Amino acid sequence: MAGFMDSVNRGFATFNVKTSNFMEASKLRAAITNKETEIADIMRYIGETVYLNRSTFSTSMVDQQLNDIKVKYDEIEDLKRQMSELEATEKNIIGSASASAEAKVFCQQCGAPNKPGGKFCEKCGSQLVY
Ligand SMILES: [Zn+2]
Repeated sequence: MAGFMDSVNRGFATFNVKTSNFMEASKLRAAITNKETEIADIMRYIGETVYLNRSTFSTSMVDQQLNDIKVKYDEIEDLKRQMSELEATEKNIIGSASASAEAKVFCQQCGAPNKPGGKFCEKCGSQLVY
């Protein structure tokens, strides 16, 4: 009976962790998408500036924008780190709830855990190396 209640409680714990992590992960993903959109806008601005000033262009004209892009890429890296930590936390708490969760292949590019057997990372699409 204790064994049964253990698995019921573990089931609820798993569900709660998955639900709150799912919402947190959605927020992080949205924040990453926002940053990527901002970077694309700045890239377009830089492209226009280079074109419009093609005879007199110097990078000092876009120093601020180049720096902004660097900052945003750093912020994206930080958000991705938070995603990895979230996944690690989930994995720790759920633990042996599913035996197959133990066997993971980690992406060499973004560090995301992937199911073994896949050719490409589920997160970033990079080729998985075995
Ligand atoms: Zn990846």
